[in-house]
Amino acid sequence: MAYDPNNIFARILRKEIPARTVYEDDFALAFHDIAPKAPIHVLVIPKGPYISIADFGETASPEEITCFWRAVSKIAEEQGLTHDGFRLISNSGPNSGQEVPHFHVHLFGGTFLGV
Ligand code: 5GP
Repeated sequence: MAYDPNNIFARILRKEIPARTVYEDDFALAFHDIAPKAPIHVLVIPKGPYISIADFGETASPEEITCFWRAVSKIAEEQGLTHDGFRLISNSGPNSGQEVPHFHVHLFGGTFLGV
């Protein structure tokens, strides 16, 4: 499957669609989920055109991968989640219910998240 440059997160990256941004650097953008499933529900996306973790892991440069995951950790810290804990989830492909075909990590926190 080819990357769709008009997926909703690509459009958010190009600022064609507004988002409640909480973090941005050269490699990552993070914004609040439009339909939050926890008190804090932030989506973190790489700036490159990657569909899923498999695509990201295989084709992004080591610098992109390192800086992306450092950004995820930094965002959790900035959101005040490091002490009490948080959860990261990334859906990949149809069986996961992945809705947006641009690799993203859900960051959940702000309450006990259950098991
Ligand atoms: P997925 O199921 O692909 O892992 O998750 C996609 C997430 O993107 C969902 O939690 C959904 O609420 C969120 N989402 C979909 N469209 C938009 C949008 O236009 N803006 C924002 N901020 N989040 C969106």
